[in-house]
Parts: sequence; structure tokens; C-alpha cells
Amino acid sequence: MIPQFIKINVCLKQHCTLKIGGLADYFVEPETEEQVTEALAFAKEKALSYFVIGHGSNLLFADEGYRGLIIKLADKFAQIEINKNLITVQAGAWMPYVARKAQQAGLAGLEHTVGIPGNIGGIITMNAGSQRKSIATHLKNICVMTEEGEKLMLTPDQCDFGYRQSIFQNKPWIILYAEVECELGDKNQIRSEMREILKERRLKFPRKQPNCGSVFKSNPAMYQQYGPPGKIIEDLGLKGYCIGDVCIAPQHANFFVNTGKAYSKDFSALVTIVRQKVIEEIGLDLESEVLSVK
Ligand SMILES: Cc1cc2nc3c(=O)[nH]c(=O)nc-3n(C[C@H](O)[C@H](O)[C@H](O)COP(=O)(O)OP(=O)(O)OC[C@H]3O[C@@H](n4cnc5c(N)ncnc54)[C@H](O)[C@@H]3O)c2cc1C
Repeated sequence: MIPQFIKINVCLKQHCTLKIGGLADYFVEPETEEQVTEALAFAKEKALSYFVIGHGSNLLFADEGYRGLIIKLADKFAQIEINKNLITVQAGAWMPYVARKAQQAGLAGLEHTVGIPGNIGGIITMNAGSQRKSIATHLKNICVMTEEGEKLMLTPDQCDFGYRQSIFQNKPWIILYAEVECELGDKNQIRSEMREILKERRLKFPRKQPNCGSVFKSNPAMYQQYGPPGKIIEDLGLKGYCIGDVCIAPQHANFFVNTGKAYSKDFSALVTIVRQKVIEEIGLDLESEVLSVK
């Protein structure tokens, strides 16, 4: 018997910003920790693999879909509590909303995250950030549920944080909530910094066509030697190049956009072509930031 809260044959296109992907055999949106435990028990009983998603803004789902259970923490799994300079936030909370809540409470440090379209669980997993910053610097504790349904409280030094990297990309753990430690700041100053960041992002990034943000990772050493991936790709004359309905965005060459009915196989083929060209021309192997879910 399939528990009532588990759906079958759910279209993954609807659950990622790229709007690419086939059907997931099983799909669940837990609203409580108990439901997360039940979802894990269901996966175990049926010997299913599972994959947890947030807003799906850094994911490439396969055209063939996913043979297992997709667990999406969102909407209802999004409580936020602020106590002095400590924000306790559930994994499904929307990052830009958390950043604004921090600003309203006069808490500084999350300004750089105000335009990042992800949920806290995804932001921590990707160690996301902008302005050459990352969320990890403001994390105090991260509470996860293991595949056995056991709860663990981790400190950042147990999470292998690196540039857009964390232990959560390699473990089947589900982030439940995190404690984020901010600095006391001036509300107006924080707000105007956020506005500046949002203004800059609106000018730089494609806004209308589905995409998943930066396709390739930039890191400080690469940035210093070659510049950001967008510039490297643009300098090779690849802006606007398409395979099927996946195109290198005319606005920003590190963004690939879905111009209609894009397929995962075309996205992957474009990634391969760009990587090969960059290796041939400058001897640098670009690393993908977007995660493939198969
Ligand atoms: C227009 C645009 C702009 C972007 N700009 C930026 C930017 O400036 N900086 C940046 O760093 N990124 C950026 N991104 C990429 C993306 O928003 C981030 O990587 C974000 O952190 C992904 O969050 P998500 O909730 O969408 O996670 P998803 O894409 O759903 O998942 C990403 C990873 O997190 C894992 N995950 C999600 N929730 C949980 C959980 N509760 N427990 C355990 N694992 C979990 C997934 O398994 C997956 O491995 C951008 C994307 C877009 C579309």
C-alpha cells in the first residue's frame, strides 16, 4: 500500500527552475519531521533510492525521470524564529525571505543571499552565496535526519564546506533546520545593500527564460587567473550557441536557458561541448555547479 501523502508519477519539470525532466515514480512533500521519517521508512520498505530537493534551482533532472522517491521540503516546512542574533530556520524556508527577515530584525551577514532563488536546505547543501561569499560563514549548527531516521546536530567544521561544496552533496541526509548566527547591524544600511545587490543581479542575469543559475563553478583562484566562467565562455565566442532548445544566454554566458521544450540530454551535450572547448583553448577544466539527478 502506498501511504496517502505519497504521490506517484509526478512531473519533475514542475519542480525545477530549468523546467526540464521526466516523471518521478514517487514524490512527497513532508510538512513535519514525522512525515520525513515516514517518507524515509516508505523508501526503505520498498528498497527505493530517494533524493531530497528544495526549490530545484540548481538541478538538472533526467529526461527519463527518477526511479525512486523525490522528497521536497518546502512551504510548510519553513518556520523561522529569531532570538537576538540567532535565526533558527527550517530547511524549506525561502532564502530571500529569510534574508529580509534578518534585515527587519537588524541582523547583518545575509545580504549577499537576498537574490538567490533557493530554500535553506539547498542553500546549505550548495554552500551558496554571492559577492564571493558563502552561507557557511554564518552557520552555527545544522540539524539533519539520516537515512535511518536518526537526528544529528552538526557544527560547520563537520560539514566539509568549500566553494559551493559541502558534505551534504555526498550523503543521503536530509537537512531539517539550521541555526544561523548574524551580526547586529543597521536596518537601513542592510536594506540599501540588499537593494544594490538585487539591482545588479537584475541587470546581469537572464530573467524571463528558465535556467539554473551558473552552470560552471567559479572559484577565487580561477577567477584571478582567467576571470569568471562567463567571461571565459564569452571570449570563446560561444554566447548564443544552442543545442536544441538549450542556449548559452546572450545576457550571461555562464547561464544556459531553456528557450522552449529543452531536454536534459541537450543541456548535458552543451556542457560537454563548452568544457571541451575551454580545455582545448586554455587548458582549464570547468567544473559543473548544476547537479544532475538520475
Ligand atoms: C536565476 C538563478 C540565480 C542563482 N544565483 C545564485 C547565486 O548567486 N549564488 C549561488 O550560490 N547559487 C545561485 N543559484 C543556484 C541555486 O539557487 C543555489 O544553488 C541554491 O542553493 C539551490 O537551492 P534549492 O533549494 O533550489 O536546492 P535544489 O536545487 O533543490 O537542490 C540543490 C542541492 O541541495 C540538496 N538539498 C536541497 N534541500 C535539501 C535538504 N533539505 N536536505 C539535504 N539536501 C538538500 C539537493 O539534494 C541538491 O543536492 C542561482 C539559480 C538561479 C536559477
